[in-house]
Amino acid sequence: MPEGPETKRMVDAISKSLVGKKIISHRFFHEELLHLNSKSQLTIIDALSKSKAIILRLDNGYSIISHNQLYGKWTFNLPKTVPKTNRQLRIEFITEKKAVRLWSATDISLYKSEHENLHPYLKKIGPDVLDIETTSEVIIRRLQNKKYQNRALGSILLDQSFISGIGNYLRSEILFFSELNHNQKSSMLNDKQNEKLSIVIKEVSIRAYKQKGKTIDFISIGNTFGNISNFKRMRHMVFSREGKPCLLCSDTIIKVVQSSRRIYVCPTCQNYKN
Ligand SMILES: [Zn+2]
Repeated sequence: MPEGPETKRMVDAISKSLVGKKIISHRFFHEELLHLNSKSQLTIIDALSKSKAIILRLDNGYSIISHNQLYGKWTFNLPKTVPKTNRQLRIEFITEKKAVRLWSATDISLYKSEHENLHPYLKKIGPDVLDIETTSEVIIRRLQNKKYQNRALGSILLDQSFISGIGNYLRSEILFFSELNHNQKSSMLNDKQNEKLSIVIKEVSIRAYKQKGKTIDFISIGNTFGNISNFKRMRHMVFSREGKPCLLCSDTIIKVVQSSRRIYVCPTCQNYKN
């Protein structure tokens, strides 16, 4: 399941290929967008992600909003390449240099750009963790909000109304770097711990975005071990590392299943007793 960082990287690729570019042809196969087929010329003036939704703003004042769920996929080819796939084509944009297509996604809709926030998914999600306006101050205010302060961190971190864009691997990694575990609640933490958690939520998400999903802090690993070459292939500190030693304390990482989702924990670093 793509999380916020993966969706934002996808939008970066869409922006590079399409925003402000002359679109030679466009085709839409999704019911909500069919009437756009009659437009002779469309320009995409902006592309952005909000959590797991992708928004393409058109020059006619409308926005195409798609949510990829599990199966939607954007592809980028040379215009002359014939794509080999069994997937259903939903959207196609051809420019001089690129053919950009969306396949399989079913959750696609068209809103006036000024009414994007009426979209049922966008309406219910909290601030996007990767949005520049979602600062650690914004995050700490939400952590200490009545609605969230008495709920387990493991639960609110996946709750898209709290902060959006965080999924399963980010949750485990954020808790590890915060030196907290999934059962703790913001109301049980002191100010320093809440502050650290709010900073880590932002930092780990940005790192995952910049490092293509890798959450490891290679600078700090380099400072500790003097050499990062042994760690280059590692993606995460705890996620999917059950039974392996923690890089910081050598304790064995364990897996906990909560609401049928996996959480990985270092019992020592995260002060967790099973
Ligand atoms: Zn540890």
